[in-house]
Amino acid sequence: MTVEERERRSVVRVVPPVRPRKLAKVPFVELADGRLQGVVSSGSDIARVYVSSIAARTHGYSCGTNNNRPCGGLHGAPCKHLRALVDEAVLQYGLDRVARYLRVDVGEGEDLMSRLDGSPEPAPAAVVFSRFLRHLAYLELPDTTEPIDELHWFPAMGAVR
Ligand SMILES: [Zn+2]
Repeated sequence: MTVEERERRSVVRVVPPVRPRKLAKVPFVELADGRLQGVVSSGSDIARVYVSSIAARTHGYSCGTNNNRPCGGLHGAPCKHLRALVDEAVLQYGLDRVARYLRVDVGEGEDLMSRLDGSPEPAPAAVVFSRFLRHLAYLELPDTTEPIDELHWFPAMGAVR
């Protein structure tokens, strides 16, 4: 089985997204606690993940590693992890739902990211990260001896501790 096939299968097992997502890039995304938040893998370091979030209404955003080191890509503007998070949320929930949740008007042909006008603000990364771990634990896994993409995150998290 190819990676693509495994990803497609694992996507179907969880809540079916509006469009297929790449779990390897953004393994966890949710609309919860008044935020769009999730876990985003580092583009360069396979052993590192970021917890990224954007608040509804204020659009205040934050990004940092799961052990609370601030993201080096936040220079007064959302980093690539936040952009990846928004992209994946739109795939998972659909643009309308994400825009409604964040309380942002996105016109025809407009990019949701460009309509956000928040500034950096601290957010509770640990809460998001522990929910991500619980999400992994509760995934219904079929009887299989093949690798499960979601579980590949466990060794990565051990390495950054
Ligand atoms: Zn970042």
